[in-house]
Amino acid sequence: MERAYIGLGSNLAEPAEQLRQALARLQQLPRTCLAAVSSFYVSDSLLPGQPRYSNAVAALDTELQPLQLLDALQAIELDQGRERVERWGPRTLDLDILLFGQRLIDEPRLHVPHYQMHLRAFVLYPLAEIAADLELPDGRPLGELLAACPFEGLERLTP
Ligand code: ATP
Ligand code: MG
Ligand code: MG
Repeated sequence: MERAYIGLGSNLAEPAEQLRQALARLQQLPRTCLAAVSSFYVSDSLLPGQPRYSNAVAALDTELQPLQLLDALQAIELDQGRERVERWGPRTLDLDILLFGQRLIDEPRLHVPHYQMHLRAFVLYPLAEIAADLELPDGRPLGELLAACPFEGLERLTP
């Protein structure tokens, strides 16, 4: 069993509802337990001119291998109407593997830790809610990443 953290994002077709649906699917994954879910947040899009995003982070305890988990996440994205038109374009659902235990994964389809998680407030703040004492595989405490990442353009929704 390993603990993986998943970043959820949506900015199309009722984003908060997309996140709720995705969480229901995560709960049904085989050999996996949905261990924790952060609050929902609203964030400004990284690219100008897109609707704002709804975001959350979930913790999974899983016996799946990382690529099996990626396959499952991509199937959920497709089921919820994800279309890849342009890079970082608006989307009904994005499910990214942020961390998978303490593993470092560098494969064509999968880089873990997620290559930009340390720069993204909409990842770090929800993650800190459910894993305050986390350390990244390189030994950096999550608190150190948070201190370098302003809570800018982010809004926490009260549950
Ligand atoms: P970003 O990666 O900057 O958050 P994105 O999430 O919009 O952008 P996607 O279109 O969802 O990018 O994914 C592009 C590819 O990234 C996927 O096909 C997947 O194979 C690959 N990928 C690499 N590392 C990861 C990861 N840690 N989690 C999810 N997908 C990943
Ligand atoms: Mg992403
Ligand atoms: Mg993605």
